[in-house]
Amino acid sequence: MILVTGGAGFIGSNFVLDWLACRDEPVVNLDLLTYAGNLGNLVSLRGDSRHVFVQGDVCDAALVRRLLVEYRPRAVVHLAAETHVDRSIQDAAAFVRTNVTGTYVLLEAVRDYWQALGATEREAFRFHHVSTDEVYGSLGPEDAPFTEHHPYQPNSPYSASKAASDHLVRAWHHTYGLPVVTTNCSNNYGPYHFPEKLIPLAIVNALAGKPLPVYGDGLNVRDWLYVKDHCAALRLVLERGRVGQTYNIGGWNEKTNLEIVRTICRLLDELRPDAAGPHERLITFVADRPGHDRRYAIDASKVERELGWRPAETFETGIRKTVQWYLDHPEWVAQVQSGAYRQWIATQYGRV
Ligand code: NAD
Repeated sequence: MILVTGGAGFIGSNFVLDWLACRDEPVVNLDLLTYAGNLGNLVSLRGDSRHVFVQGDVCDAALVRRLLVEYRPRAVVHLAAETHVDRSIQDAAAFVRTNVTGTYVLLEAVRDYWQALGATEREAFRFHHVSTDEVYGSLGPEDAPFTEHHPYQPNSPYSASKAASDHLVRAWHHTYGLPVVTTNCSNNYGPYHFPEKLIPLAIVNALAGKPLPVYGDGLNVRDWLYVKDHCAALRLVLERGRVGQTYNIGGWNEKTNLEIVRTICRLLDELRPDAAGPHERLITFVADRPGHDRRYAIDASKVERELGWRPAETFETGIRKTVQWYLDHPEWVAQVQSGAYRQWIATQYGRV
């Protein structure tokens, strides 16, 4: 059994689906179901006894401790977080609470649980902390991509809260010996991505004929990775990563935001020739995000060299699959947009 936090979110649900497709080891999935959590992502697991969903808060120490004692996981994969930079700029309170306090609560509960394990189980146990490249700050155009040794220079409330959580995890290893691994990944895209982030927002708005907002001059650079490649890396690091180490994960796919939106437009022109194209006419430049980091890029050599991980998708194949997924799942998009999925979930699952 493994305990996954945030397993109803974008990466978390992809991770749970991927894990249960590749491994026959059950998952207990602790997720608060904030606006970003969607049990509809996991509908294919209905009736699968290997998936136990628990609606709850990582800040709830009693609940976390109860789950550890009840399910006795051999590993914790911690994905639960507040993740949207724009929301963190508007109000950082939930980011500090979930990302910092929540990680602290989890670490303390896991430390007690881990210390009480027998020697063999204690040795094998892992706490896998899932983090972001945004903790490293912003790169200039000529700078080398982030290695694991790059100094932490978080610039947004979101990245600052994730950096704080990374430091806590590191400290719990160095101080208490908790067997941790941390991964810092670049921007993900793919199925089940909530349409507040650039790629799903561009797809969903283009399908609806709405404007495609692009911040500033559109030339901010992000490094993109197909979410299923991230999930494969998480599995590998959990199983073979060295304790106490950090692994950067990325697909060597630097793209400007404008390139991303234009690529989506071209794909939709091709895949939906009936729509009133060309979709590029919908691109609308909007005022830049305050403190917008200019460039992120990940040097993934360490995870490639040590663990033999390679992404299966190029950006071109991954983005095509992603656009096709949104075209094939109009009900998911409609539910997420209307908020109706919450009512639908209540009728499907009830409160757990
Ligand atoms: P998401 O916002 O889609 O999902 C977050 C999930 O956490 C949701 O299901 C939400 O309900 C849950 N959650 C929030 N607060 C909680 C709480 N207090 N207790 C329990 N559950 C709670 O996020 P995501 O994009 O899937 O990101 C998952 C993790 O990966 C995060 O830690 C994020 O920092 C990290 N990450 C994301 C990206 C990316 O591009 N999306 C890249 C690198 C790292």
